[in-house]
Amino acid sequence: MIRFEHVTKRYKGTAKPALSDIDFEIQRGEFVFLVGASGSGKSSCLRLILREDVPSSGRVVALGRDTKTLTTRRTPYFRRHIGAVFQDFRLLQSKTVAQNVAFTLQVIGRSRGFIKQAVPDALERVGLAGMGKRMPHELSGGEQQRVAIARALVNRPQLLLADEPTGNLDPGTSVDIMRILAQVNATGTTVVMATHEATFVDQMQRRVIELSEGVLLRDERHGGYGDTSVVRTLRPETERGAAAIAALTAVLEVQREVTEGSAEAAVDATQRAVDAVEEVVDVIAAPAPAPARPAEAADAAIPPIEPASGDPVAEPVPVAEPDAAAGEQPEDDGADRTPSVPHVPVDELGMADRLGLRPRDDDEVGPTS
Ligand code: ADP
Ligand code: MG
Repeated sequence: MIRFEHVTKRYKGTAKPALSDIDFEIQRGEFVFLVGASGSGKSSCLRLILREDVPSSGRVVALGRDTKTLTTRRTPYFRRHIGAVFQDFRLLQSKTVAQNVAFTLQVIGRSRGFIKQAVPDALERVGLAGMGKRMPHELSGGEQQRVAIARALVNRPQLLLADEPTGNLDPGTSVDIMRILAQVNATGTTVVMATHEATFVDQMQRRVIELSEGVLLRDERHGGYGDTSVVRTLRPETERGAAAIAALTAVLEVQREVTEGSAEAAVDATQRAVDAVEEVVDVIAAPAPAPARPAEAADAAIPPIEPASGDPVAEPVPVAEPDAAAGEQPEDDGADRTPSVPHVPVDELGMADRLGLRPRDDDEVGPTS
């Protein structure tokens, strides 16, 4: 799903590279922590995955695409399969919760019917059912971050990137956010979360990729933060299940693109499905990891995902009904389409690039061999 091959990133005017010769691969369905001190290169990695930036050397492959060969014109379509949340929530303060969640869908031209169903679904997934009419300033920090997660999930992305999503929250609220991210992952979405906070990483016992000053220090399956004694405590069947669900999601996406999307989108989706199925085969073929510790470690590996103080977040979400699967909106039906969105305050969100609202500049990125 994501592959870094000898990735080095140098920013203009800086002597030291922000990332040096980084190599890792993330499979569909994984939950990965990207950890390291401030300035270690975590956000740079996430920006490379989102193709907000390209490597100075090496290759970043995300969702089956080499980000360097992806044209600027295609980038917004690529990003529709990726949700992103940030430390500072980035909500539109002048819009209600529901409008914030609906906003991206409107900009990409989703139908009213889709939006009407998808927004309450997304709010329910994050435990905010019925809160759509509130304004962001009426919510706590944790609730605002839930809105941001709902917005990131509303188009059913295959991948969720979270850059220090708990950085502005108190520990109790942060745990709620972690539960939601774990739940999102349990439904087949790959999650990559950057954090410098040890607590969650220790508790979650998922894969940890640690950076230090742009160098990959550690890439450990299911390790705790700074604790190398706990390895491989995630039960293999969990991985298999996640891989299988992810493959099913990918296949349903093919179905959807074939019936509703463009030929190019169908080809893209097919490639992703092939990748997903190959990963299932890999996961099944891989030798079962020996637990480093007896049963208690395995039981402690994944904290149960419980509703946070009565919130219905533990309700499993049906995985990718074809209608709800992320994908490009076909250009041909137009019948129930929301009218073009006037006065779109995308700059407020820094989302112009993500949504393809910048002028085309295809020549900027050429194919690489
Ligand atoms: P982290 O997210 O782990 O705090 P970053 O990826 O933001 O780390 O930054 C890694 C290094 O790259 C830091 O030294 C930072 O100062 C530098 N850096 C990040 N973005 C830029 C930029 N746009 N221009 C110049 N240097 C940058
Ligand atoms: Mg950062």
